[in-house]
Amino acid sequence: MSDFAQVIGQNAEHLTDLDRAIGDGDHGSNMTRGTSKTAALAEAEEFDNSAAYLKKVGMTLVSNVGGASGPLFGTFFLRLGGALGDAEDIDAVTFGKALHAGVGGVLARGKAEVGDKTMFDAWSPALEAYDAAVTDGGDLQAALQAAVDGAKQGRDATVDLVARKGRASYLGERSKGHQDPGATSTVLLLESALRLWPNQRILP
Ligand code: ADP
Ligand code: MG
Repeated sequence: MSDFAQVIGQNAEHLTDLDRAIGDGDHGSNMTRGTSKTAALAEAEEFDNSAAYLKKVGMTLVSNVGGASGPLFGTFFLRLGGALGDAEDIDAVTFGKALHAGVGGVLARGKAEVGDKTMFDAWSPALEAYDAAVTDGGDLQAALQAAVDGAKQGRDATVDLVARKGRASYLGERSKGHQDPGATSTVLLLESALRLWPNQRILP
C-alpha cells in the first residue's frame, strides 16, 4: 500500500487530467487522499493476518477515496482479504482465487460490463491473462506480469470506447478518444503488486 500510495501521488495530476476530460477532475485527488491513509495504517496498527489488514485497507479506501472509485477499490480489497483469510505463503493459485473474489466485488458494486469504459475494462483482461499464466504453470510473478500486461491492453482499449457507466457516460459519444481514469489507476495497482511480489506476503 505504501508503494501504491507513492505511485498514485506521482500520477495524481495525470489521473486528474484524465478525469477532467470525461468526468469531474477529482480521480487523482480522490485516490491520493485514500491511498495515503492506507499507507499510514501499517504504522498505526498491527494486524494479525492478511484478511484483517486488507479489510482495514478496504474500509479506509471506501471512506476516504469517495466518488465512484472509492467503494469499487474498497470492495476489491475487502473481498481480496476475505478470500485470503490467514494464508501466509501466497502462491499464484491462492492469490488468483483472491483476485477473482476482489474483481467479483468490483463487478457486484459497479455492474459494469466489458466495453462500458470503466476500471472493469482493465480488471477483466487482467484476470484472464492471470488465469492463462497460471494454467501454463506460471508462478506468482509470471501471473502478475501477465495481469499487468492484460490490464494495460484493457486500459488502452478504453480510449476508443463510449462510456456506458459512471460519470463519463453523461458525455455519450463525446467520451470517445479519452482513456478511462479508473482503468489507469487499476494498472498502477497491479504494477505495485508485481513490484512487490518477492515478499509473497500481504502484511506490511
Ligand atoms: P467519480 O466518477 O465519482 O468522480 P472517480 O473520479 O474517483 O469517481 O472515479 C471514476 C472512475 O470510476 C472511472 O474512471 C471508472 O473507471 C470508475 N467507475 C465509475 N463507475 C463505475 C462502474 N459502475 N463500474 C466500474 N467502474 C466504474
Ligand atoms: Mg471523478
